[in-house]
Amino acid sequence: MEASEFRRRGKEMVDYIADYLEGVEGRQVYPDVKPGYLRPLIPSTAPQEPERFEDIINDIEKIIMPGVTHWHSPYFFAYFPTASSYPSMLADMLCGAIGCVGFSWAASPACTELETVMMDWLGKMLELPEAFLAGKASQGGGVIQGSASEATLVALLAARSKVTHQLQATSPELTQGAIMEKLVAYSSDQAHSSVERAALIGGVKLKAIPSDGNFSMRASALREAMEQDKAAGLIPFFVVATLGTTSCCSFDSLLEVGPICNQEGMWLHIDAAYAGSAFICPEFRYLLNGVEFADSFNFNPHKWLLVNFDCSTMWVKKRTDLTEAFKTDPVYLKHSHQDSGLITDYRHWQIPLGRRFRSLKMWFVFRMYGVKGLQAHIRKHVQLSHEFESLVCQDPRFEICAEVILGLVCFRLKGSNQLNEALLEKINSTKKIHLVPCCLQDKFVLRFVLCSRTVESAHVQQAWQHIRELADSLLRAEKE
Ligand SMILES: *Cc1c(COP(=O)(O)O)cnc(C)c1O
Repeated sequence: MEASEFRRRGKEMVDYIADYLEGVEGRQVYPDVKPGYLRPLIPSTAPQEPERFEDIINDIEKIIMPGVTHWHSPYFFAYFPTASSYPSMLADMLCGAIGCVGFSWAASPACTELETVMMDWLGKMLELPEAFLAGKASQGGGVIQGSASEATLVALLAARSKVTHQLQATSPELTQGAIMEKLVAYSSDQAHSSVERAALIGGVKLKAIPSDGNFSMRASALREAMEQDKAAGLIPFFVVATLGTTSCCSFDSLLEVGPICNQEGMWLHIDAAYAGSAFICPEFRYLLNGVEFADSFNFNPHKWLLVNFDCSTMWVKKRTDLTEAFKTDPVYLKHSHQDSGLITDYRHWQIPLGRRFRSLKMWFVFRMYGVKGLQAHIRKHVQLSHEFESLVCQDPRFEICAEVILGLVCFRLKGSNQLNEALLEKINSTKKIHLVPCCLQDKFVLRFVLCSRTVESAHVQQAWQHIRELADSLLRAEKE
């Protein structure tokens, strides 16, 4: 394809995208296909001869769209939101065009420098303590990771490396193996499964701390587990506190857990993957109180801040905690500025070498929406979740299962798990709306999450009407 065709096809593609998103409400939110549907629809090998662009475009509606779950439909209420906005998509086009791989400052200076400044912009929107901002001549700073899972893993590996060096400094006879055997990390029993995976990959023990009646990790439970482990000769070194758990959007008590981590010399990592975006609103900022105790903090603008996947923002108080844990310097990656102390080589902050120019998405979105536009987006979802909550409360057959704080409502029919499983099965097989469940204290619970950028009150009202009708027919069938 030459530039002249690209100009034409690019405009067609932009039109296709705008038509798709404008019309996504009219598509069935969840596809009808069965596993393996796609293979028979396309050739078994790549074409030898070039094909025409028209033929590819025509196949999108025939082959791809029938198997797409429409995450941006206003009838999609599952998982957590994944961000979508036009400025972000435009920035992604430019990122593809510049197509640099910004592993070091020298590899493409703008890629590194815009990222550092965008991380400071976002840090200031959240009112992060200055120790996390790079521009304050502090030792901290921010980096874009691909996902919250990656951020947790990076934090755990950095903490592991730090504690190992500390112990070896005082007891040089200790081998890394002998230390690793004794390391133990903690998170609440409500933490995301990626925390368990980070511990598995990092080769350390992870203990789940029982959460309290509000699904929150509290000081007493953490202290008890830690004291037991210390008495058994283990070495507590890492704690993940979750702000906005995946099941029910509960919050660990940072103000209780933070001081314990600091006293005991344990690395505190905060996973606020979903909820973090809400902290740009002054009325939700209190949920982040205690962040000053953390060594690292992460959330996903690619969930709720209109920056398309992937963009997971992570801040550390001491950048040397990362760079010293992950540094290697082969000759082919050396450059003349690297020892000046003035620049950042982000390859030392992450697991892969290569990285895209993802900060362009943040720059475009922050400028086109402004902080006020982003706050309005968060507030609309929170308002709609309370609207759904009040609808549920008006129907005595249903109950709310966890406090509604942000854009997630956990609810169920009063009755057995079996009944609620049947209700969810009816909802998801009818495919007018899409939800996923969770389990809270052995109860099967339905999660209703405001996801789409374009969702309005009318969609919420319709969704609730639909759920009630399915519940009616289910309860009628039960009686018969
Ligand atoms: C969504 C979520 C994750 C996983 O996010 P990825 O970016 O997909 O790795 C981790 N923790 C919490 C609390 C989440 O809600």
